[in-house]
Order: sequence, then structure tokens, then C-alpha cells
Amino acid sequence: MSLTWRHLTFALVVSSLACSGASRSAIGRPAPSGACCLEIGRRVAAGHRVAALTTRRFTHTDYWAALDPLLKSKALRVTPVGASTQGRALRAITFGTGPTTVFLWSQMHGDESTATMALADIISWLGAPEADALRDRLAANLTVVMLPMLNPDGAELFQRENAVGVDVNRDVRRLSTAEARTLKAVRDSIKPAFGFNLHDQNARTLGRPGGQRVGIALLAPAADAANGFGPTRAAARLVAARIRDVLEREIPGRIARYDDAFNVRAFGDLFQSWGTSTVLIESGALPDDADKQRLRTVNVIAILSALDAIATGDYRKEDPAVYTSLPVNDRSAVDVVVTGASLVIPGQAPVRVDISMNYEDPLRKGRARVREIGDLEDVVAFDTVAAPGLFIHPDPSMLTEQRGNRWLRIGATVQLSIRRGPEPTSALVREMGNR
Ligand SMILES: [Zn+2]
Repeated sequence: MSLTWRHLTFALVVSSLACSGASRSAIGRPAPSGACCLEIGRRVAAGHRVAALTTRRFTHTDYWAALDPLLKSKALRVTPVGASTQGRALRAITFGTGPTTVFLWSQMHGDESTATMALADIISWLGAPEADALRDRLAANLTVVMLPMLNPDGAELFQRENAVGVDVNRDVRRLSTAEARTLKAVRDSIKPAFGFNLHDQNARTLGRPGGQRVGIALLAPAADAANGFGPTRAAARLVAARIRDVLEREIPGRIARYDDAFNVRAFGDLFQSWGTSTVLIESGALPDDADKQRLRTVNVIAILSALDAIATGDYRKEDPAVYTSLPVNDRSAVDVVVTGASLVIPGQAPVRVDISMNYEDPLRKGRARVREIGDLEDVVAFDTVAAPGLFIHPDPSMLTEQRGNRWLRIGATVQLSIRRGPEPTSALVREMGNR
């Protein structure tokens, strides 16, 4: 019995060491041997989940209170690196003493918190006491520097911009904001070989025309307007290929490539031009994942896979085509479209139109606003309300009136009824809205 148990333990250690991966890569060829870390990533995300973080909206105080006890680990070094516009502390957490420096920063946009949660879980695992082959390998080969929640003032309000309304990712040249200056200063002091720019993208983005919602979009940003692949960007492309290879087994068909036009005002592109092989990871949305807890796990898997591929040098075995064959982020869908009905404005003849609407929060749903009115037959929507031959009666609050004219207002909060006839007393089929 004990012999069997020891053999089993040994087998687990060996498999963790080799990070034995699956069989086929994203484009059908055999995956590179040793492709890590689907199983390990799942295990870390579940076993080291920082339990105090349960939703995608949390503050700087919440975050660091949850992390504080974990940061006592001897494996982690905490460095104050600056303060936000409103004076919230910005901290870098460093793990490992290896020759290759990797820099990860998250939540430069205050309402993009998925990777910040994943970094908490990874920090928890990196500081844990039990022996672990992957962690030892990362510690020996890498110096991993993590700067979670770069824009805590934006996080406080759950808004993209910082406390004075500036998009930090459009401030890389001027460095007008405290957050951008801190990011640049850390980069200049550690001169990382690899960088990970961690964001959340539009949750309504589709992966290809009529395709699924994108779960994760990857990008090895261009380093110049010519959009070529020098050695720095080529290495980033191979790391992104590795991430895709692993993630296709976790969220098949839900991975895309982000727009790669060079943006001289964006950090990722400039990091690439400064010689740091940089990968952008954009978390989109997954079905039934309103608080992005599943995407949090996906981020842990992606980041550990990338770190291991860099630590072993194994990313060099990847095929660039695994990255270049990704479908590019396509247009975004609307949340709801009502088709086939006629719109009733009191005092006017009914008009045959479709109406699209978006929820204020596309993941939690709730309150919706009118987005477009007209012929929307080619619009892709997550939900279609087919109402052929029926009549849409908007609540008066949805109408604007000027000089005797009345119309349905774009942006109006949706509060309407769908009825069998144009008369307001005709049979009710359905109500839409929150009242
Ligand atoms: Zn962003």
C-alpha cells in the first residue's frame, strides 16, 4: 500500500516536473513536448485562490488587505515603486533570482481587473511553503516582477481612466500621470527581457464574423509603424503561440488576436520598441461568468504557461503560425435586438423598425439602453427578440419632444411593451425594462 502511494507521489512529481502537456497544438501539429501548464494552472487557480476577491470590482484597500498576509513569505520581495495620483501606494512584488527578468503589470485601466485577481492567486502560490517543481524552476531561471493594479484610483471608481480622467495607456510619451511615470521607471530600472501587459477588452467582441464571444485576445504588439518582426517581437510572438496552444484546451475557439496596428501612444508597443518582448493579454468574456472568475483561472493558466516556457526556453520550439493563424478580434455584437415589429409613437403612424439595445453592464445585464433604430437585419446580437407583426410601445420616458415632434431617443433607458396592436390597450405580449 505505502509502496503504491510512494510510486503515485513520484509519478505526480515527475509529471509536474515535465509539465507533460497534451497532444496536439492549436493548429493540429503535435504540441511541443513539455508544454506546461494546463493542469498545474487549474490546480494553482483552485488551490491558491485568494478567497477575499470574489467579484471583479474591488478596491486597492481590499486587494492589499487580502494579499498582506501572503507577502510575509520569504520567497517574495515587496518594493514600493510609487504612488497613484491620489496617493495610493504602488507596489512591485518580486519572485526568483534567475537571470531572465519578466515584468507583469495589470489594471492600467481601472475597470479591467481580471488579471489583477489572477496575479493575487499566482503570488499566493509563489509564496507557498510546500515543494513544487514548477515554482523551483521559475525561481532558478527567472526574476518575476509583478505590479498589480497600476491604476488604483480608477479601480476605486471602476472606471478606465485615472483620477484626473487620463487614459494611462495614452500617456507613454508625455508621462504626465503618476501611474505612467511609475510604470516607465520600473521598466527602466529592471530592463525586463519579457513583459506582460494585462487588460480586459470589450466583453462584446466576437472572434470572427458571427463567431463566439472572445474569451482571451493575445497580441505581440508592433514595435514600429512598419509592423515587422524583429527578434524582440518574434520572441513575444512565440510566447503568445505557447499561450494559445495551452488555452485552446481550456477555452477552445474562444481565443483571438488583437488589432496589431502600431500605436505610438500605447505602452505595449513602446515596451516592444525598447527591447522587452511584450505580450498583451486581453480578457474578454465567457458565458455565465459575470464576475470573470472563470477568466481569472484562464489568466492563471496563461501566465504560468508563459512563465514556464520562458524559464525553460521552450517557447523557441513554438510555431509562429500558432499565433498568426488566430482569428482577429472582429466587430462587437449588441446585447439584444428586437426584430420584425413596428414602433408606435403617439400621434404618428407606426413605423416598421428594428431596435437594438445594450446593457450598461454586458456581463451582469440589468439596465439596458437603446443603441440603434432602423434596419438591423445584419446586426449580430447575443439575444434576438423576434416580434414579427407586433408593435413596440415605448414608455414616455424613452421619448424626446421638441416643437411638437416626438421621437425615440438613442441612449434612452429601455422601458417598453410589445403588444399585438398599435393601440396602447391591445394585448400585451412582453414587457422589456426594469420597472
Ligand atoms: Zn485596457
